[in-house]
Amino acid sequence: MNKDDINSIKTLLNSPKAIVIIPHKNPDGDAIGSALGLYHYLKQNNHNVSIIAPNDYPDFLKWMPKESSILKYDAQKEDCDAVIYHADLIFTLDFNSLSRIGDMETIVSNSEAIKIMIDHHQQPDDYATYMYSDISMSSTCEMVYNFIEMLDEANKIDRDIATCLYTGIMTDTGSFRFPSTTSATHHIVGQLIQKGANNSEIHNQIYDTNSYARLQLLGRALSNLKVIPEYRTAYISLSQEELNTFDFKKGDTEGFVNYGLSLKGIIFAAIFIESHQDNIIKISLRSKGDFSVNELSRTHFNGGGHTNAAGGRSELNLKETIDKFISILPQYKQDLKI
Ligand code: 5GP
Ligand code: MN
Repeated sequence: MNKDDINSIKTLLNSPKAIVIIPHKNPDGDAIGSALGLYHYLKQNNHNVSIIAPNDYPDFLKWMPKESSILKYDAQKEDCDAVIYHADLIFTLDFNSLSRIGDMETIVSNSEAIKIMIDHHQQPDDYATYMYSDISMSSTCEMVYNFIEMLDEANKIDRDIATCLYTGIMTDTGSFRFPSTTSATHHIVGQLIQKGANNSEIHNQIYDTNSYARLQLLGRALSNLKVIPEYRTAYISLSQEELNTFDFKKGDTEGFVNYGLSLKGIIFAAIFIESHQDNIIKISLRSKGDFSVNELSRTHFNGGGHTNAAGGRSELNLKETIDKFISILPQYKQDLKI
């Protein structure tokens, strides 16, 4: 973000504003952490701030400070429309295309509020007045830290802000192990701990709150794991019936796709999850090295994301989706074959 943009935003934030913060649909730790981190910062500066998530998110995120104040668009559409209608400023966090906010797309795109994008995904759309977009960043939470620092307000980062931002950096970096984790990321995380984030407690809240049913579902996912060694590819599928058997709750399959990638010699992993509610197959893709699952997902599965982590969807049935997946692998033999 250049100096002129920062100065304009500083001027905007100099007087109290009605501000709406929007994370993407099916928000993850980075989306909710960055939204709440920014919320606590803006509240300190006497703005009237609301967070509107397009829909609900997993229980393991429902402990962050002021999490309960987040509005859910799909459950409170009319209230949310009124809040968006009165907004002076809209921050869009952890996504870069308004198609990622589902049913909120029209009202946000028609809103005359000034829009500020903070995001680290590839190929941003052009809807924002001010854009802080950087695909080299580990997480949107790392960018919110930088954003507050660019406003010369790092001294305002308190325990609540630090807790929320730490959470999103931790979840988006796979606990600081993905290649997007840099020395700057570690420096910021160090600062956040110094400002009061309890790293061990945050880790427990996110990762050590499994239900027995979720571990059983993981067991089923692992026994469904298939390997295609000639393409260094592994994939998992879960049918709606299997999800029902193990009392599936939102977020239960988070991280499952990474098990495929942990196999020796595998550089491309996928999970296909049937959703009767949405009438689609939800797809998560992960890779190692230069193989771009963002490109594959955009081209074949109506999605996108990052080089090594992307998501998408299919309107075919589960078997047809997997058949399609297998049939496109030869197109990527250059990258996937040894
Ligand atoms: P996940 O597989 O964990 O749902 O998502 C992996 C990454 O891809 C995340 O950064 C997420 O924001 C992005 N992503 C997931 N689903 C979609 C999608 O349908 N469209 C786009 N453009 N990005 C997605
Ligand atoms: Mn993110």
